[in-house]
Parts: sequence; C-alpha cells; structure tokens
Amino acid sequence: MGKIRVELPCKNCRDIFSIFVSEAAKREGKITCPACGHTHEYGLADINLLYLTEQVVAGSVRSA
Ligand SMILES: [Zn+2]
Repeated sequence: MGKIRVELPCKNCRDIFSIFVSEAAKREGKITCPACGHTHEYGLADINLLYLTEQVVAGSVRSA
C-alpha cells in the first residue's frame, strides 16, 4: 500500500492543497496551509472520509 494523499480546503484562503494521510495523522489533524501559512485543525474523521473518497481516484489531482 503506497501513501495516500487527500485534498483539503484551507479554512483561511480557501486554497485546495493535498497532504499525505499519514502526515495528517502524525500532526493530529493540525495542517498548515502551504499557500498562506495558517494552521487549521481538521477532524481526523473528515480526513478519513476524504481518504475513502480519494481511493476511488487514487493518485489523481484534480485542478478544478
Ligand atoms: Zn491558506
């Protein structure tokens, strides 16, 4: 099993960035947005939900 990435929306600048699930878990859901540098807390339940969604389109990064 490789590393799975999830996409998270920044709660400050609304940028969409991706992070490895293992990284998010290690940080206990506290993720720093690479665009604006703000740290927000994301529920691990949300990340797990995204993880399940992301499995369907594993590896692909959407550019909406
Ligand atoms: Zn941001």
